[in-house]
Amino acid sequence: MSKHFDVIVVGGGPAGYVAAIRAAQLGQSTAVVDNFVYKDGEPSLGGTCLNVGCIPSKALLDSSEQYHKVTNTLSAHGIKASGVELDVKAMIQRKDRVVKDLTGGIAQLFKANNITWVQGHGKLLENKQVQVTRHKGEQETYQAENVILAPGSRPIDIDAAPLDGKRIVNSDGALEFDEVPKRLGIIGAGVIGLEMGSVWSRLGSKVTLLEAQDQFLPPVDQRVAKAAQAEFKKQGLDIRFGARVTSAKTAKNVTVHYEDKKGKQSIQVDKLVVCVGRRPNTGDLFSEDANLLLDERGFINVDDHCQTNLPGVYAIGDVVRGPMLAHKGSEEGAMVAEMIAGQPGHVNYETIPWVIYTHPEIAWVGRTEEALKAAGVPFRSGTFNFGATGRARAMEDLAGMVKVIAHAETDRILGVHIVGPQASELIAEAVVAMEFHASSEDLARTIHAHPTLSEAVHEAALSVSRRAIHKAN
Ligand code: FAD
Ligand code: NAD
Repeated sequence: MSKHFDVIVVGGGPAGYVAAIRAAQLGQSTAVVDNFVYKDGEPSLGGTCLNVGCIPSKALLDSSEQYHKVTNTLSAHGIKASGVELDVKAMIQRKDRVVKDLTGGIAQLFKANNITWVQGHGKLLENKQVQVTRHKGEQETYQAENVILAPGSRPIDIDAAPLDGKRIVNSDGALEFDEVPKRLGIIGAGVIGLEMGSVWSRLGSKVTLLEAQDQFLPPVDQRVAKAAQAEFKKQGLDIRFGARVTSAKTAKNVTVHYEDKKGKQSIQVDKLVVCVGRRPNTGDLFSEDANLLLDERGFINVDDHCQTNLPGVYAIGDVVRGPMLAHKGSEEGAMVAEMIAGQPGHVNYETIPWVIYTHPEIAWVGRTEEALKAAGVPFRSGTFNFGATGRARAMEDLAGMVKVIAHAETDRILGVHIVGPQASELIAEAVVAMEFHASSEDLARTIHAHPTLSEAVHEAALSVSRRAIHKAN
């Protein structure tokens, strides 16, 4: 096998594998070095996203939502279900099958695109060489014209709650419970905490989230965050703010000690999930003489085009600045591959959508009202509740709203914030609108099918100029 490639990508997650496929499409000889080994012992492409992140979490969110529908919400439609049984092992097996199908699909795409998959750990040496340590220990050195570093990130651990892999786990472990914990504790009410909390709460756990900050979801528009918080409270998610965890003791169960405004507190849970953020995978990624620069937070230092301080060496995905999102990394991967092939690559960091896959879902793009106020940007906003749309009523899924924010003078859309059913799909319209620099008037004049949830986006856009039809303005 040749050890010389036009492009060597280190990391086969959504940033790295997309970069590799795009590079191969553009005629570059390409190899991907990836060290991930799935729980069955098999090397597996797709990184965190496909193996232990986006995909398995969404598989469990969907399964748990089906269960919750049958046991809770179908009765409102006149459907009575009895004898419903939960088979957690089968649910986890289905999730594993979804993962395997998708990760196997990436391997097929690599074959179809003539991409070499090198299974092992990659380390950048000087002069664009990559040293690979295979899973069995042998080492070999490859030479590249261009190197793309895409090693991703891993969960942050905290000393107050060291993982034991059984009762105290991180997000990987929360995807693998073989029964529903009666009481589930979660440290961190961020994206993973809310998604995994939703899964196990729908299946019957009593879920308590301990959040260090006083505010719920600070990056989210606070009107939307408050609407979501109220829904989560109704669902029984017990979120405790300003909670500083001091220790977690395991015996038959876990006793979590924490301090908040009221003083010293504790809770007893059967399992504890630590999800307090993720940090970049830069350990043993490059040799000292490679002279790769990191930034002050430990991410690989890159410019707007993901170029590192070393010519011909790029870094993309979770290991560089910006949101830790699969689609952000993938876009960076495509951009870098295109630039390497001499094309103009570009990522618009202003229009990266975010989604939190709870029920109701939370989705947004662009800036929040709080950020605009802080920046002194004049704006107008319009809102519309899903409960006032025929479709949400027909679905019996009424909670939530859409908020459209536009510049007060130019009317250009600055942000769209949604909490409600299918927010993850609805946000795409807002992303396209912002990508094309649309005004709220453009959205207001766009015909939306009736009856659809997207009518709430239309009405929120109309509401910016106080002319929504199905509400008093
Ligand atoms: P990764 O996906 O982490 O891939 C990096 C790969 O490189 C891994 O296979 C790793 O083993 C390998 N690697 C690391 N170092 C080396 C090395 N030196 N040599 C060889 N290989 C190496 N994002 C979303 O957009 N939507 C979601 O719904 C979503 N849900 C998530 C749910 C959970 C539970 C978690 C944990 C994350 C979720 N994310 C989600 C975040 C998303 O998974 C990451 O943003 C994304 O995977 C980052 O892609 P990446 O390619 O940069 O890195
Ligand atoms: P996060 O940053 O979303 O949330 C972590 C939370 O933990 C924050 O609210 C923080 O204030 C809190 N926290 C930090 N230290 C704490 C402590 N010691 N005690 C109590 N609370 C503490 O991080 P996450 O939930 O671990 O997720 C990591 C990243 O993975 C996300 O930021 C996101 O980029 C990505 N992700 C995305 C999705 C999605 O797109 N749907 C889903 C899951 C994960």
